[in-house]
Amino acid sequence: MMTLKQEDPQIASLIDEEAERQEYGIELIASENYTSKAVMEAMGSVLTNKYSEGTVGKRYYGGNEVIDKIEQLAIDRCKQLFGCEHVNVQALSGSPANAAVYLAVLKLGDKVLGLKLDHGGHLSHGHPVNFSGMLYNFVQYEVEKETGRIDMDKVREVALREKPKMILAGFSAYSRNLDWKRFKEIADEVGAITMADISHIAGLIAGKVIDSPVPYFDIVTTTTHKTLRGPRGAIIMCKEKFAKQIDKGLFPGMQGGPHDHINAAKAVAFGEALKPEFHVYAQNVIKNAQAMAAELMKRGYKIISDGTDNHLMVVDLTSKGLSGKEAERALDKVGISTSASTIPFDTRKPFDPSGLRIGTPAITTRGFNEADSVYVADVIDRTIQARNDDVRLKAIRQEIIELCKKHPLYKK
Ligand SMILES: *Cc1c(COP(=O)(O)O)cnc(C)c1O
Repeated sequence: MMTLKQEDPQIASLIDEEAERQEYGIELIASENYTSKAVMEAMGSVLTNKYSEGTVGKRYYGGNEVIDKIEQLAIDRCKQLFGCEHVNVQALSGSPANAAVYLAVLKLGDKVLGLKLDHGGHLSHGHPVNFSGMLYNFVQYEVEKETGRIDMDKVREVALREKPKMILAGFSAYSRNLDWKRFKEIADEVGAITMADISHIAGLIAGKVIDSPVPYFDIVTTTTHKTLRGPRGAIIMCKEKFAKQIDKGLFPGMQGGPHDHINAAKAVAFGEALKPEFHVYAQNVIKNAQAMAAELMKRGYKIISDGTDNHLMVVDLTSKGLSGKEAERALDKVGISTSASTIPFDTRKPFDPSGLRIGTPAITTRGFNEADSVYVADVIDRTIQARNDDVRLKAIRQEIIELCKKHPLYKK
């Protein structure tokens, strides 16, 4: 059989081009990471050829004796990693995982309490342009204007007033730890189901550096490709009493055949996360984020909530006189990837918001330490200042290439 280079040189060379971009660029997008070669090897395997609708031992197709063993390994490792009672590892990605949960436990129009999108929530947590906001009645809690933090007494007030069927805790752009236990107490008080979406912080939870909702919550979803550093995909964990409902919600409710090559790669990633090195990785992700946040604040940047407990921070650029998109564009020119982000109570439009979201999962994977993170903050500051000076930006681009060479990624 032909290799990719022989079969399709056009795509092969574009993949090489993207590999170069990743190797010589600084990745600060908080939801991205670099998987191991082992994870990629599993993803690019013959497992992609198989159909295996159903669950382990109960499939709708023949020839699944090997797939059963692979999926069972993924399940066992996941249970060991998160201590969950039940897990379905077949979810294709974060949004479909959440859709499957809603389908499994809610009726159309049911009320759900979630974090507002521009306060750090996710589209699939009830935004009006998303299926979640169209099919279910989402009501929202917010962060406080003065502190940038969620006030649990306010969450309780909204919950008592709204009496939701489900309370959803989780975020894509919030840099503080959530009080899982308190969420559960509030939910119990109003008789609501508890769902946590730990997509962003699953790796920090797996690495045992921040608290887990798994002991308290009924249902916990997560993507596997963010801090958890696995293949693109998701999993749904739950208490045993929701197991049947969740499995049925995912298949046949929401999805067809599972992606067995991805599920094998999930098993590989769970195996990696179970190693002691992963605990050190998770610790370093937070140390790097805190070092970067401190340096940016020293240079007069406003960070929402004045710091971070996790892998990310949202920088409010208002006082620096530029928008999030302008900063994102300038940083792109020197080879630093970030994402413009809304800030709580943003007065600008979502497509050109006031904030910039920055995260350290990817640079920590390639071995950046706190000193490197402080240096990156310095480069960010200089880039923003030099944003209209192409000569200076070119010189900064060279610095970035040198820094990347110091920490090789896949060219090791
Ligand atoms: C990233 C994310 C998702 C969506 O994941 P996709 O794989 O992009 O569909 C869902 N919820 C949260 C909180 C996220 O951060």
